[in-house]
Amino acid sequence: MGLHKSCITDETKDSTVCNLSSIAVKSKDVAPTKLTINNWSEFPAKGLPHTLKSLYIEGLKLCSLRQDILSLNHLTLLSLSNNEIEKIPPEFGNLPSLRELYLSNNSLGLNKNPNWQWLLGIQVSKTLKVLDLCGNKLEDLPKSIWKLQNLITLKLDNNILNKLPSSLGRISTLRYLSVSKNNLQYIPYSLKHCGLEHLDISLNDFTPEETGLQQYGTQWEFYNSLVHIAAKAVLENKLSYAPNILPKTLVELLDNSNICICGKPVLDDKCLIKKTRFNEFSSISFILVKDFFTVQCFICSPKCHYYFRVIRIYNLILNT
Ligand SMILES: [Zn+2]
Repeated sequence: MGLHKSCITDETKDSTVCNLSSIAVKSKDVAPTKLTINNWSEFPAKGLPHTLKSLYIEGLKLCSLRQDILSLNHLTLLSLSNNEIEKIPPEFGNLPSLRELYLSNNSLGLNKNPNWQWLLGIQVSKTLKVLDLCGNKLEDLPKSIWKLQNLITLKLDNNILNKLPSSLGRISTLRYLSVSKNNLQYIPYSLKHCGLEHLDISLNDFTPEETGLQQYGTQWEFYNSLVHIAAKAVLENKLSYAPNILPKTLVELLDNSNICICGKPVLDDKCLIKKTRFNEFSSISFILVKDFFTVQCFICSPKCHYYFRVIRIYNLILNT
């Protein structure tokens, strides 16, 4: 706060230093890079300094994101925790340097159709490493969250999520995921494929029932049109695609793909729910209250369908 106050009260004018060179140094030091605002009276009268790298505006019952934050090109850390923010504007995705975003204890889930467009921002999707959305009454997460291609830490505790998008498995950098105190019925098996190191899924319901068994026991239809075959080739080879080079429907098909238990893309939403134990995810450090949880499995081929049946039988043997 010292830096902040010296900025807004323009203390440099009071400087009694008469040496020109020392004035230059002072001027450089005064440019604030960190600002904490816990009270309305602490907002700078001249607006937020453009030199800010860290900004904390917490506990003020803010209902929306201030527009002047959008022009802070050097901002790497932004905390707006403990406010009442209901939406993030799409332009937020253009912040060029943002690495850590803390939005815990806000109201993003109050809007039944929250606009997650900011996640697709060409800048934020490249730079964001930490995202904290705890305590937002969120019922759902968008599949597009995988666009955060450098995300390392994702915190979703204390929401009302009953599922997670399998697209999380497409974030190869994701290492820490915390989804404690939600209503999760299952987690996507795809989390096994993204290099996750730490997973907190404590205090969730987890359905005790396995579902999708009607398909499991009978013929599983694998639909492979030419479009699907081409789309799989694009995804498997990690070819870049964008709305300016592909029709919108194809971009949506590619964006919304799921991940098979083998790690390959799946282009439909048919899935099976399987009861499992954490030893099947042995590379991940778990925080788990119950001794079992359920996973959502997508299947890409008859071969993987067979594998699914084998590991299911394997688990049954383990559990007896
Ligand atoms: Zn597969």
